[in-house]
Amino acid sequence: MRTSILTLSIADNNRFFVPFTAGWFTLSAMPDKNQIERKLAESDLRAIEKESIEVFRELLRFDTTNPPGNEMPAIRFAESVLSRDEIECEVFEIEQNRGNLVCRLVSSGAEPPLMLSAHVDVVPANPAKWKHPPFEATIDDGWIYARGAIDMKNMACYGITILRILKRLGLPLKRDVILCLVSDEEAGCHNGSEYMVKEHAEKVRADIVFNEVGGFTLWYDDVKFYPVQIAEKGICWLRLKATGEPGHGSIPVRDSALLQAARAAEKLAATKLPMHTTEPAKLMTEGLASAFGFPKASVMRALTSEGIGRWLRDALVRDPKKNAQMQALYHNTANPTIFNSGVKINVIPDSAILEIDGRTLPGVQLDEFLSEVKSVVGNGFEFEVIDFQPASTTEGWEPILVEIQKTIDKYDPGGKVIPSLCPGFTDSRWYATLGARCVGFSPVKLGPETDFGALFHGHNERIPVDGYIFGLHALADVVCKYAIAE
Ligand SMILES: [Zn+2]
Repeated sequence: MRTSILTLSIADNNRFFVPFTAGWFTLSAMPDKNQIERKLAESDLRAIEKESIEVFRELLRFDTTNPPGNEMPAIRFAESVLSRDEIECEVFEIEQNRGNLVCRLVSSGAEPPLMLSAHVDVVPANPAKWKHPPFEATIDDGWIYARGAIDMKNMACYGITILRILKRLGLPLKRDVILCLVSDEEAGCHNGSEYMVKEHAEKVRADIVFNEVGGFTLWYDDVKFYPVQIAEKGICWLRLKATGEPGHGSIPVRDSALLQAARAAEKLAATKLPMHTTEPAKLMTEGLASAFGFPKASVMRALTSEGIGRWLRDALVRDPKKNAQMQALYHNTANPTIFNSGVKINVIPDSAILEIDGRTLPGVQLDEFLSEVKSVVGNGFEFEVIDFQPASTTEGWEPILVEIQKTIDKYDPGGKVIPSLCPGFTDSRWYATLGARCVGFSPVKLGPETDFGALFHGHNERIPVDGYIFGLHALADVVCKYAIAE
């Protein structure tokens, strides 16, 4: 049975007005209702939906820009909301107004725990470039505008809402359901998931972890896909140092430290590192290709060939942004991001520092990546490794994606779930070290006109209200399947 989550008409400038004629109401009429939908009256479901959005907007108003983070007020707010249903939280305070929250609904223990994971820190936003202030959560034309709207306070509020409903209903659980909200993901996870895994492993050890990045609608030629992250690239952050003769700024030079480092940066920008076809990228491409017939499917599959894929991609994918997105799936990458040299305008500096944001594919080790970078920039530089964390790949994800597909069939028929490789890093890498099957599923339904990738860390980050409600339903449905005893 096809269900539609109707477009909500919202006219708001900080006033909350949502005519709830959709969402849970529609879903409650479905024949294959989950345990939550069966238990609650339509009016209760609508009230839950409404309150979840109110909580979401309040959470979005905390400025958790990292650096510096200052996540603690947001964490304390989440704790206070969970306490409304007498859910006890443990808050782990870390220096400088930072911290993490864990709460757990205890089950019979018949099966190992399931965890919902979200970070509450966000990347910086330049208000001058935004249609609405980035920390006011303004609703405009059905969208909530705020830094963190999709990355990823939405997931934090899905989790808060789902735990509250499960607690309120007292449904019998076969798995503990854990909610873990952390700080510091956007700066490398150190005070967040890394701290929790290293200092409090038993609090966050789970069999299945639902985290970012995945579950959003990816439109491709009228076909809607729901990519679900099963692997993420590693990081290798490097500091390249160039040295040269100092001198007087009145005498021209061609090989100063500054110019050597600048040339290294230019070479990295102009040169693709070697192509490697890894299993997760191949599975992702196969998932996309399988939705199409000849010749498109054949061409898509050929893009994965280490022999001709790269040249085919450059010939066919002329849009620079799309080409770069594909490059990230099949190559290690090395982006210069910070440049430091010189102290005085009339002095030729004797050193220059170039910091490089390196991202490594599954299976690539530090030495291999370093040799790829050195072969591009040439000899004569010193390298310091600032941080290296190898790529992370989940094993045993297949049955989880089967269940997610059933959920998407129910809430957005026609959507095709595919495994995906994330070019960035997430907290999943840390939970995976404890043996968790981490999958990216923080669902958001988007129309064909919306490019999810452009919203991520972009100006005017925003989420459609109905896309949020869809996400809440979809995640709750999957949690019901895994956690509630029949
Ligand atoms: Zn994120």
